Amino acid sequence: MAKKIFLCAINNVLSGNCLEDCAFCTQSVHHGAKIARYKFKDEKLVLQEAKRAKELGALGYCLVTAGKGLDSKKLEKIISYTTLIKKELSNFQIIACNGTVSLEMLKELKKAGVTSYNHNLETAQSYYPKICSTHSWQERYNCAQNVKKAGLKLCSGGIFGMGESKEDREEFIKALISLKPDSVPINFYIPNEALPIKKRNIEFDEAIEVIKKIAKALPKAKIMVAGGREHLFDTFEKEKAMYEAGANAIVIGDYLTTKGVSALQDQERIQAFGYEIARECDGK
Ligand code: SF4
Repeated sequence: MAKKIFLCAINNVLSGNCLEDCAFCTQSVHHGAKIARYKFKDEKLVLQEAKRAKELGALGYCLVTAGKGLDSKKLEKIISYTTLIKKELSNFQIIACNGTVSLEMLKELKKAGVTSYNHNLETAQSYYPKICSTHSWQERYNCAQNVKKAGLKLCSGGIFGMGESKEDREEFIKALISLKPDSVPINFYIPNEALPIKKRNIEFDEAIEVIKKIAKALPKAKIMVAGGREHLFDTFEKEKAMYEAGANAIVIGDYLTTKGVSALQDQERIQAFGYEIARECDGK
């Protein structure tokens, strides 16, 4: 049976103006990056975009908000988007990604029909102070642990190539494995002139090693390659190697503030590699 590849899409429903100072993020007000900044997207627009993602094969849809965490207003909006999308689209899982969140709020999201919560560790605990001074890595770890306590699936990964050392990378991967996430988004840093991290310090071979290590340690997880894959795996052969290393899921379409690959090209490539696009989420 051909290996199945799961497609996921993301929607930045509230963009920019975040007071945190994450060095990799164009949505932080500290860096003044030139991006679109807006308040909550109109619900009908979000539904229309969700329908389009489903037509392109997405089985999961991630509702993302910029900012440190979830407050009652954001919670209400995410519940409202979720309710609308779930009413209109079947066989379509909602993932919420709204920063630090309490156990009680996670339970509310689950009640509303959210399947998974995405909270990335981003990098190693030792390296974290170099990329963020406004909140701690431990806070991120604790929040990721709470996701499972609330009965939601945990989606947790991070970004490679932000200047971390090989040792930091090992430490980060170990921490991710300790969380036993259901899916692991693996991103590769995308430099932007406004951001303090000026270049990406990971090459193709190292990126393949990262995917292999995580896939081997978490055989049941979805190994989802996301932002930056269009740079690291930019040829047919390199993309093939990405899947062979253990990737079994990708984010299709655009990312939060950067352009992605055409979803149609992704579908053609997946078929050309001899894989199948998953039509149902297996519940994992
Ligand atoms: S908390 Fe989230 S939105 Fe804010 S700067 Fe950090 S990564 Fe960006």
